[in-house]
Amino acid sequence: MVERLKCPQCSTIVTVQPGQSPVCPNCGFGATPPPPVPAPAYAPPPVYAPPAPQFYQPPAPPGYQPVPAPGYAAQPYQPAYAAQVPGQPQPVTQGTAIAALLLNILLIPGVGSLIGQRKKEGIWQLVLFLVGIPMTLILVGVFMIMAAWIWGLVTGIQIMQTAQK
Ligand SMILES: [Zn+2]
Repeated sequence: MVERLKCPQCSTIVTVQPGQSPVCPNCGFGATPPPPVPAPAYAPPPVYAPPAPQFYQPPAPPGYQPVPAPGYAAQPYQPAYAAQVPGQPQPVTQGTAIAALLLNILLIPGVGSLIGQRKKEGIWQLVLFLVGIPMTLILVGVFMIMAAWIWGLVTGIQIMQTAQK
């Protein structure tokens, strides 16, 4: 059966086929009683916000063409900045790196990784090790502790390799 709904935006009567979402032909308003499916396809997904308008650079006025200066056109070298990418481990000093490696292999796997700025690995190694202790009762914990220790050793060596000289 065909439903007839009134558009809340422009009061146009919208005929709705069964199983379809009502869409106003006059103003395009997707007027609907609570639909079983989310927003119609043309609605922009709310997750991706458009770029903030205040950062929009207006195009150059007509007639003006920016021409690169000839002397700078073939500049061969750009200073290479070691950009701090979020998520990349921070560089640590060599002393910290040695302490991190020793802590990981001699004390508790993960603690060294944490002080060596390998937070994600450190937390997982710590969890693996700490959960592994009670699990030794059913043997699997032995392997968890071994895995945490080896992983901590590998991370410790990586911290040593990336440490500042
Ligand atoms: Zn309408």
